[in-house]
Amino acid sequence: MKIKYLDLQKITQTFEPDLSRTIKHVIDVGWFLYGSETHAFEREFADFCGTSYCLGTANGLDALTLILKSYKDLLGWKADDEVIVPAFTFIASIEAINRAGLRPVLCDVRTDDFLIDETLIEPLINSHTKAILPVHLYGKVCRMSTIRLLAQQYGLKVIEDAAQAHGAIAEDGKRAGACGDAAGFSFYPGKNLGALGDGGAIVTNDKAVIDYANELANYGMSRKYVHEEKGINSRLDEIQAAVLRIKLKRLDYDNKCRQKMAYRYFTEIRNKKLELPYNGGVKWDESVYHIFPILCSKRDTLRSYLKEKDIETLIHYPIPPHLQKAYQEFNNLSFPVAEHICRNQVSIPLNQSLSEEEINYIITTLNDFVC
Ligand SMILES: *Cc1c(COP(=O)(O)O)cnc(C)c1O
Repeated sequence: MKIKYLDLQKITQTFEPDLSRTIKHVIDVGWFLYGSETHAFEREFADFCGTSYCLGTANGLDALTLILKSYKDLLGWKADDEVIVPAFTFIASIEAINRAGLRPVLCDVRTDDFLIDETLIEPLINSHTKAILPVHLYGKVCRMSTIRLLAQQYGLKVIEDAAQAHGAIAEDGKRAGACGDAAGFSFYPGKNLGALGDGGAIVTNDKAVIDYANELANYGMSRKYVHEEKGINSRLDEIQAAVLRIKLKRLDYDNKCRQKMAYRYFTEIRNKKLELPYNGGVKWDESVYHIFPILCSKRDTLRSYLKEKDIETLIHYPIPPHLQKAYQEFNNLSFPVAEHICRNQVSIPLNQSLSEEEINYIITTLNDFVC
């Protein structure tokens, strides 16, 4: 039995022949940008998230950048005003802040579920702080009621990085994307909702932001060839939108499959050498488990053992952002929890294409691990 970390070929096949049919339809219609598929997807994805508006973008990084740049211009934020972001995340969350001409301020994360530690946010707030950018890492929504309360108290915007959390549920029952002022999603192929290439989206209830971001994403154009701002080019194309519409219909079901597998991992992996993430007790079905992380102090031994047993694993992520060469300005900082996770984390396979036998095999193999 050989188990890939993520078999995209297999997953994509389960959507056939619908994907080929819808791509053929777009080809036959002959309209490739700003068309009916993109508009329909934007409507459907806003409804899915429970927000009023959605704007398709070229990728997740652009979605976050456009939100930040929009607030910056609309609210008159200054260059180098600050945005609080978790010290443990995929680099794009931080890169978006820099691209918008703002300053990322890193905040360490929780030891139990690896999300931004809401108790560490307040001391980071000063007169330059303009926003908090929580990341729903691995598919689990951050503690948004506490974060919203802080934001309210200090007049900050809350911008969710929901790139790993399509369909995830927050404490109050809202979906990822509807828990802050605006949210960025990614449809990178490996995400829970993935395109056949790049794609992203902004969702929000804020009409001013969606209108301004729409303009920025189209060369800062308010009317044809009238440029009010220096914009960029960032659009979701008709083919990707058509593909995403097909896949969105099954997203809740696919997420349920992931949750059932995660529940089995939580209840059946019992190896003292392996540390499982906190699953929220009875609320194990709120996360959408984009990634199922385990921690092991003998990570390399564990990974080579699993490789020998034909189970592929990955590390998300081996180097924390503040120790990257690209971020030398942060190299002297220390975020003990983020560093600990980077040293010990292993992602084990979890997605809707895995069979019951494969899940059994992964559990048994992990329980048999000794070091
Ligand atoms: C994937 C991802 C992004 C960026 O998405 P792209 O579509 O690759 O630009 C941003 N943040 C997080 C947490 C991600 O996982």
